[in-house]
Amino acid sequence: MTVSEDLFERARTLMPGGVNSPVRAFGSVGGSPRFMVASDGPYLTDADGKQYVDLVCSWGPMLLGHKHPAVQEAVHAAVDRGLSFGASTPDESALAELVMQRFGGVDRLRMVSTGTEATMTAVRLARGYTGRDLIVKFAGCYHGHLDSLLASAGSGVATMALPGSAGVTAATAAETLVVPYNDRAAVEAVFAEHGDNIAAIITESAPANMGVVTPGEGFNKFLLDTAHAHGALLIVDEVLTGFRASDAGYWGLSGRVEGWTPDLYTFGKVIGGGLPTAGLGGRADVMDRLAPTGPVYQAGTLSGNPVAMAAGVATLTHATPEVYAHIDALSLELQKAVSAALNAEGVDHSIQTAGNLFSVAFGTSERGVHDYADAQAQEAFRYAPFFHSMLESGAYLAPSVFEAWFLSAAHDDAAMQRVYDALPAAAKAAAAATPA
Ligand SMILES: *Cc1c(COP(=O)(O)O)cnc(C)c1O
Repeated sequence: MTVSEDLFERARTLMPGGVNSPVRAFGSVGGSPRFMVASDGPYLTDADGKQYVDLVCSWGPMLLGHKHPAVQEAVHAAVDRGLSFGASTPDESALAELVMQRFGGVDRLRMVSTGTEATMTAVRLARGYTGRDLIVKFAGCYHGHLDSLLASAGSGVATMALPGSAGVTAATAAETLVVPYNDRAAVEAVFAEHGDNIAAIITESAPANMGVVTPGEGFNKFLLDTAHAHGALLIVDEVLTGFRASDAGYWGLSGRVEGWTPDLYTFGKVIGGGLPTAGLGGRADVMDRLAPTGPVYQAGTLSGNPVAMAAGVATLTHATPEVYAHIDALSLELQKAVSAALNAEGVDHSIQTAGNLFSVAFGTSERGVHDYADAQAQEAFRYAPFFHSMLESGAYLAPSVFEAWFLSAAHDDAAMQRVYDALPAAAKAAAAATPA
């Protein structure tokens, strides 16, 4: 028995499924999750002392790699000043300014602790601002685990093939209108029927929780125009893509180019550099409806925590154009390598991209993946053997086909070579896979 297996056995008696976030349990790929004890640059080390090239990067946050010296130093210095003051600190404004310099249309920012809190607050704020109840979301998009947005959600909900979640009241579910992604006619149809009572459309700026899906040309702009034509708001969820798909997230490749900004953004993951920080930001007249300036209540004991702010400020300060150029280039190289390995074994697939984010969808070369139905129809059974072969070879992928592959500034030639060397055997395993 490995140390990880032993630890998992113990954890299962202490936590539901042995984990504190469901996909970590390896449910969809089988086998026993690796317990991690250390990290450095592009590497993770498990409890048995085995080292992996990390292609999860904590599900996004570790843009600069693990233990980036400047981030470590800033966090150590913050810890030395104290862990939490329950009062305002200078770094909150520093981080807000760094966000505003990158994203257009962020007049105000409110810090929270998780992406879920950011989207939950954005939804409440949109309802408070418009005086309307309904929210439009897309099937396969994940916005955290708030009740109103768990219907047809991506991420773990998709991985476990759940329709939604138990414990969400029928009344709450009825206030969420779910439409297929990239489907303009469906969006127009819900607005034609319910336009007077829709508070907001919420969308991932590029979906990356049903695997990656490329938004159709002008789709986000169409959502903004449609929402505004009916007096509703557009909430663009940049929790995963923000500060990663480009310096200004996927908005930097979409809104900045096409010349539009959403009413509200949500941020998370990279913004905290590995500590629990997230935020929502946008138009001053909307954001100022939040307490204490407005009637929409929101608060947090640890919001704007000084240690987390220090990690965020250091991470964004060091997320330079060179960092994005490096990750963009590596991503292209890796996409080509994955495709070449799969082609060599005759494994039908498509590579889905949104900037430097990508994922592999098996058996989809003909149609690609444009929405959740496409993502679900893929030959997902090929992923588990592919994943385990990579893991065995020392490359740590997300334990779900519905996740993006994450790279960092610290992924160098030596780390990438280990990934490339692992691909042929993994492609063979994928080729040999049969449906369960
Ligand atoms: C991860 C994620 C969230 C939820 O963030 P948590 O910090 O896990 O609560 C929300 N939206 C998107 C797009 C995400 O990828």
